[in-house]
Amino acid sequence: MVLAITILSCNNQNQEKMNTNTKELVEIFPKGEKGTNDLFTGNAYPTALVDADSVYNTLVGNVYFEPGARSHWHSHPAGQILIITDGIGYHQIEGKEIEIIKKGDVVKCPPNVRHWHGASADVGLQQLYIIPKTDEGIVEWNEAVTDEQYSIQK
Ligand code: MN
Repeated sequence: MVLAITILSCNNQNQEKMNTNTKELVEIFPKGEKGTNDLFTGNAYPTALVDADSVYNTLVGNVYFEPGARSHWHSHPAGQILIITDGIGYHQIEGKEIEIIKKGDVVKCPPNVRHWHGASADVGLQQLYIIPKTDEGIVEWNEAVTDEQYSIQK
């Protein structure tokens, strides 16, 4: 009897731990292929939804970030708008504090400003990105966000 209770309580602990660690986001869009290590740290899955063309001059896509995953530092010549559709993450403009972003938030990244965005350490993030005026350019990629930069939150 004691053994049975012990096993049961262990199972409960495992179940709770598993639910915390694998908080499933609601995938609205196709997950796509894993982003490459020269653009992202960790497991990030970018998917284009609207390709830029001469009619709309606008690129729209989705990125699903697993916990801890984030983009490298980068900038957009004409800026970018993020719409967070699930989860919790971080966004940082260079020189400013890390901003916590979560489902329902809309974030504007000004033109030619170095920044990064991604999931929080514990919870994933799903975000739409909108890049306007693609005739001016889409993105310029820079170096990775270090673990130290990622972990500093005030
Ligand atoms: Mn960006």
